[in-house]
Amino acid sequence: MWSIELQRYARLQSIDPPALFASDQPAAKHRGSMVTMTESQKASPGQVPGPAILALRWFLLAVMGGLFVAWNFFWWARPTVWFGTNLLNKQWRADLDSGYFDLYDANYLLYFVPPVLIAILAPIYLSLPKPPRTEQDVIREAKPPSLLYRIWKFQVFQTVTVAELFWCTYVAAFLIWQAAVMYCKKYETIHRVPLVKPKKPPAPAWQGEWDYIAQLFGWASYILVNLLFFPVARNSPLLKLINVPWERAVRYHRWLAWWMLLMTLGHFVAYMTYWQKIGTVQKNVKDWRGYDVSRPAGILVGIVGAIMGLTSLGVVRRRYFELFFSVHQLYVLFILFLFWHQGTKNGLTFMMPSLFLFAFDRLQRAIQSWGHAGVLATKTLPDGTIQVEVAKHPNHAFHPLSFLFVNIPGVSRFEWHPFSLMTGPKDSARSFVFHVKPQTLGGTQWTDRATAKVGHVSPDPDAKAVSKCPLTRMLKADGFYGSESDSFKRYPALVMISGGSGIVPLIAVLRDILHSHRIGADVGLPSVIYLYWAVRDYRQLAPIAELSPGQLCPGHGSKVTIRVHAYVTQGTKSDVSTLDYSRVDVAEHSAVQPMRAQINGWRLSLVLLITLVGTTIFIGAAFNLIVYSYEKHGAKTGMRWWHRSSVLLCSIVAGVIVFGGLSMAAVYLLDNMLGRKEASDAVDAPAKDGYESSRASRCILEETADSEDNLLQAADVTFGQRPVPADILTEVAEQHAGMRIGVLASGPTELVHNVVSQCRRKNGIFTGGQNGAFFDLHTISYTL
Ligand SMILES: Cc1cc2nc3c(=O)[nH]c(=O)nc-3n(C[C@H](O)[C@H](O)[C@H](O)COP(=O)(O)OP(=O)(O)OC[C@H]3O[C@@H](n4cnc5c(N)ncnc54)[C@H](O)[C@@H]3O)c2cc1C
Repeated sequence: MWSIELQRYARLQSIDPPALFASDQPAAKHRGSMVTMTESQKASPGQVPGPAILALRWFLLAVMGGLFVAWNFFWWARPTVWFGTNLLNKQWRADLDSGYFDLYDANYLLYFVPPVLIAILAPIYLSLPKPPRTEQDVIREAKPPSLLYRIWKFQVFQTVTVAELFWCTYVAAFLIWQAAVMYCKKYETIHRVPLVKPKKPPAPAWQGEWDYIAQLFGWASYILVNLLFFPVARNSPLLKLINVPWERAVRYHRWLAWWMLLMTLGHFVAYMTYWQKIGTVQKNVKDWRGYDVSRPAGILVGIVGAIMGLTSLGVVRRRYFELFFSVHQLYVLFILFLFWHQGTKNGLTFMMPSLFLFAFDRLQRAIQSWGHAGVLATKTLPDGTIQVEVAKHPNHAFHPLSFLFVNIPGVSRFEWHPFSLMTGPKDSARSFVFHVKPQTLGGTQWTDRATAKVGHVSPDPDAKAVSKCPLTRMLKADGFYGSESDSFKRYPALVMISGGSGIVPLIAVLRDILHSHRIGADVGLPSVIYLYWAVRDYRQLAPIAELSPGQLCPGHGSKVTIRVHAYVTQGTKSDVSTLDYSRVDVAEHSAVQPMRAQINGWRLSLVLLITLVGTTIFIGAAFNLIVYSYEKHGAKTGMRWWHRSSVLLCSIVAGVIVFGGLSMAAVYLLDNMLGRKEASDAVDAPAKDGYESSRASRCILEETADSEDNLLQAADVTFGQRPVPADILTEVAEQHAGMRIGVLASGPTELVHNVVSQCRRKNGIFTGGQNGAFFDLHTISYTL
């Protein structure tokens, strides 16, 4: 049975309805239709990647997949006798010794290089054009997904999916495997009966076992530290490759950190009780042990880790974000003490790719956010919220769900705050808008001070005159981050539910869909969009009063229906007054310098490769010049372990700074030389790509909505109530029976969790969902 709604969607997309049930049939034919898909709405031939590009995509994917599998295999096989003892530590250790890595060249090649190589290949892969979406895809994606997908995306608890639980289980199984195999091996050694009777009676077996269990906790902790830095490298090509936006990846960092602290605690407690039993606590905790693991350094790792962990607890982080953030900068000491603690034991320090990628990311962030980003205009809304339009280079790509970090030195020198973009890439190739809502008007928080800086917090109708922009040469920006997916364009119907400033990314999505309808560049765009938005008072509705679908997509009514429901929780209809007093301040044109673009594509791959090779050379040079020459000149015992690991850490950091820094500087310099004209065009010239045909003014913020056709005019405004996600989803499921419906939930955690639990209830994994509809949920959270 196929629903009337599905037929309607098929007609709207000009797809032969029977094809909706037989995705294996040949591509559906076009027919004369109510609203036909124009030729340009179908994938234009210019966008279709040729066979060479497609082959390269598959090749890169296969190589990266192979490297990932190999890297996992080396880790899983490491504790076994066959691999770890015989191959790695005996044969390959001897065969591969170049004198560069303190005898641990094999560790470097097998455990360090593969993930870094994936990170090098990923930007090339990501920059290749994707095969365009075909009508077959549209047909398939309009239907509820397979059982496997339903299970994989099922939100088990709050926003935690089965997919995330799977990877948690994978890591846990991996740790258990490591501990079990290593323990069995050691057990055999401890309990082996010596062939020759020893002169001194050996220590009792329990001591060896206890000692080893304590070591295993340390080993598990080390593995988790190694994984800890992957999710927090914001620019990491690895996160982009698996399409995990940074704000979501942060939660994996948090989970790994808690597990790591737990293992560290186990390591500490096991050793302390063991030493207590054999009466050596005093001696051991003071023992720097020049030629083995340094114990006091290990205690310092634990102390610093515990302080960082405690100040990152939700209660502290959410109330005193700056305290949490400042204390987290102690990660520098954490890494230093960790290197001192481990020394070069088993070559552990040669297997930390996440540290390398994190150091590279820190450098990238420092360089790309250097200097000021040109502010084109600011707008103050009636509730004191500000919108800021920033100039960007046309090649600096972003997506509707992107966000950036902003610093205003005049407000705070060191604070960087994340803000979603309010405009999409099709609004302008040369600028974007973000939106800052004060936490409390007149308060002392960063957002309060930043909005006060722009300065027109009181709604004053006389202040409408355009004046000089107060943020000129005052703003630093780092971005873009966030989801690069445009999956929201794939559903026949899209439900967007938000609260407060959670509306911002949803406006960007709406604008992007309207532009896409106008340009006709995509197939299968949503034909119905429901927008539900809750605010505290009526004045906060200004952002939708500024948005005119007719300006963005003339004649949009025949392509997409937009239903807006606004909920004003405080106040009554009698409070409604005109919102026509937003104030725009435009910058002096000469002052505008576009925000520095991120390095992407093959240039990022090249920079990463140079950094990897350069850092490898640096490590070798440092070992030869410092460690080996020290040993050659008379030091019988060799260099102390913690000195060696300091040399190693310094050479990694110096390698990244020197080679990464120089190659990034070279890329920016070349860009500046070759692209100077283009950059100034970014601000001056009229748009070439036709995206901006709706804009009469130089700044997006100068646009005023057609008062007849703005979203607020069309909205159904309810006072004194909040949206009820259960009712919304029930109604939508009735309207779009048997279809896959996109849901975007954005804003306060409570609202997002409510939407999550309702989607979970309505979907039902095995029941087929209410009216056969499936809600495909995406959440955007503002609370880190
Ligand atoms: C991905 C993302 C996109 C966002 N987009 C927008 C937007 O478009 N418009 C908007 O008005 N707000 C947005 N926010 C929220 C905004 O970043 C916070 O409101 C702002 O940082 C609060 O800072 P404060 O010092 O004024 O308030 P505080 O009272 O100090 O902080 C309130 C909460 O904001 C978060 N926060 C505070 N400082 C930071 C920081 N430096 N980095 C990250 N989070 C911090 C914490 O969760 C904290 O609990 C977004 C947040 C995220 C994570």
